[in-house]
Amino acid sequence: MFKKILIANRGEIACRVIETATRLGVRTVAVYSEADRNARHVEMADEAVLIGAAEVGESYLKADVILEAAKQTGAEAIHPGYGFLSENADFADKCEKAGIVFIGPPASAIRAMGLKDAAKALMTKAGVPVVPGYHGESQDADLLAREAERIGYPVLIKAVAGGGGKGMRSVMTAADFPAALLSAQREGQSAFGDGRVLIEKYLTKPRHIEIQVFADSHGNAVHLFERDCSLQRRHQKVIEEAPAPDMPETMRAAMGAAAVAAAKAIGYVGAGTIEFIADVSNGLKEDAFYFMEMNTRLQVEHPVTEMITGQDLVEWQLRVASGEALPRRQEELAINGHAFEVRLYAEDPANDFLPATGPLLRLRAPRAGASVRIDTGVRQGDSVTPYYDPMIAKLIVHGETREAALQTLSRALDDYQVAGVATNLGFLRQIARHPAFAAKDLDTGFIERFRADLVPASPLPTDEELALATLYLLLDRQRVTALRSAAANDRYSPWNDLTAWRPNDTGHDDFRFEIGGENVTVVARYTRAGIQIDLPGGSRLAEGNWTPDGGIAARLDGHVLSGAVVRQGVKMVVMTSGRQVEIVEHVADFNALSSEGGSGVITSPMPGKLIQLFVKAGEEVAVGDPLVVIEAMKMEHTLTAFRDGVIEDVFFEVGDQVDEGAVLVRLADEETS
Ligand code: ADP
Ligand code: ADP
Ligand code: MG
Repeated sequence: MFKKILIANRGEIACRVIETATRLGVRTVAVYSEADRNARHVEMADEAVLIGAAEVGESYLKADVILEAAKQTGAEAIHPGYGFLSENADFADKCEKAGIVFIGPPASAIRAMGLKDAAKALMTKAGVPVVPGYHGESQDADLLAREAERIGYPVLIKAVAGGGGKGMRSVMTAADFPAALLSAQREGQSAFGDGRVLIEKYLTKPRHIEIQVFADSHGNAVHLFERDCSLQRRHQKVIEEAPAPDMPETMRAAMGAAAVAAAKAIGYVGAGTIEFIADVSNGLKEDAFYFMEMNTRLQVEHPVTEMITGQDLVEWQLRVASGEALPRRQEELAINGHAFEVRLYAEDPANDFLPATGPLLRLRAPRAGASVRIDTGVRQGDSVTPYYDPMIAKLIVHGETREAALQTLSRALDDYQVAGVATNLGFLRQIARHPAFAAKDLDTGFIERFRADLVPASPLPTDEELALATLYLLLDRQRVTALRSAAANDRYSPWNDLTAWRPNDTGHDDFRFEIGGENVTVVARYTRAGIQIDLPGGSRLAEGNWTPDGGIAARLDGHVLSGAVVRQGVKMVVMTSGRQVEIVEHVADFNALSSEGGSGVITSPMPGKLIQLFVKAGEEVAVGDPLVVIEAMKMEHTLTAFRDGVIEDVFFEVGDQVDEGAVLVRLADEETS
């Protein structure tokens, strides 16, 4: 076993690798960018090396700088995690030349599987079924359009170098083909430096089922069963589970054998995943699955496999990379129970899932244990920045049966509290509670099909939630008062007291909130019996205390309730079990501030880069016309005109970085246009 390794990654996966290495007595070296100075992975590692600026191109993708860090710290091996350099064959080569072990497959295997078109050709030769389509050399637009016609619509255009659902466009009709092609090519070019594409038949009711494979350098290869990753949004995985629901044993055996054959065909070593797509229009059938791609690295969702097999795949990686044989033979591996993983992201479901950035003012995870695991790279107080993947954490649960695991998942999601930045937590809760999910009505269209149930309108606060918000404001005032008295010379001066308590009066405080467009006043009265809060549904005798972790333990007419409140400006986020609502404190008049909204400005809904501009000052546009394309997290977002008009001003150029809220384009006033 190695004595010291370097982890060329950040976030949860860096922490995940450090955990196992530490358990095995292997010393760890972290690398970090300037934005990650105080990151969790830096804190967890035995030592850490600063490798450059925040942008990934200046730090986590700098192969030479990372290799130098490994040499300087005496690390014998580099674990690349996933993303970044993990599937970069040149990096694997450089490691070898430098005499440092790359904890991953040989560079030749990465190359063989690196491009989806070449991988498909190779798999066809090895007798593994692939999706029908065009995987040819020529990238001539007319030829591609003819091929799409030949394959038959709908088709899927994929960047050959793609990953993470990027560079992919489904096309329903020939009319949409040219625009989709350009867009896929451009995304492929910007995200992977390769604009080439392939075309596939688009299956309309597929399940994504992948097989975890592992091979050692002694010629052994096994599979660790399947993961079902059908719950996706825009071809990106949201929830994964293992085993695949209703998987027939014969199909499991056929897929496992095909995956092991695929690994052997390319001389694979280490952890890999063979992704298949299964056509489930007639249920799961052992002759209706097709090879999609191989990911030659540890996969984000590997923990569900660990939960059902009891194996630590990072430990396997370290053992295999240091020359040991696989820890288990195929017959020694079995499936125990069921596991789910959900990906908690900083993104805003109510705003088309745009990636969100900001501080994690509150981050409280459910209690971890044998059946609940949390993999994360952030702590409360950290920020989600625009530089990296907006994943906050992975929640993984295990149960004896799918039903039991799903119940644990729901419960754990209900216990999660995250505020400060928009997240998909509410969305994940809705999926976990959805009857169709429990009923295993799975395919990659699930989320689109049930979108209306999964992204509900923000709920109105209940009386209990209003009471928590009120108690929060009172407790917060007390805290301020206490701080002031402590700081003041005269500790007993009544002027330090901000609460409404008056010696000769049963005092009261009025709190004004905006709820569903209405102003609601909640009155807190200080009576002999305690604080009485007048809520829309009646008065309650209330008591509140801070909990050690910054939440609130409340009692309303003797009923015990716990939750947490986070305040951001006039907005308060109230979190209770399984619910999160926003309550706005009513403040005098925002017209002055929002008058911008009445004028014709188009602002950037997120921080990102302006990559395309369709208009110039003086041009006329009609409602719905595209104006600019913003790229954030390697995804493109097109902003369109919200009314007809004339462009008065364009404030940025192609290539500019823009902040959230930045004014990009202004339409002339309607009178003058
Ligand atoms: P797939 O490539 O099949 O979608 P995964 O879902 O495991 O497989 O990973 C998605 C891809 O997105 C990875 O290949 C990786 O490049 C990228 N990615 C996902 N999450 C992160 C992250 N936290 N940090 C860096 N890259 C990530
Ligand atoms: P990536 O490298 O981005 O992970 P994949 O080829 O693995 O790309 O595909 C990602 C997802 O897109 C799959 O999990 C599946 O949901 C969907 N997909 C891929 N190929 C097809 C297809 N031929 N028909 C329908 N859906 C597909
Ligand atoms: Mg994939």
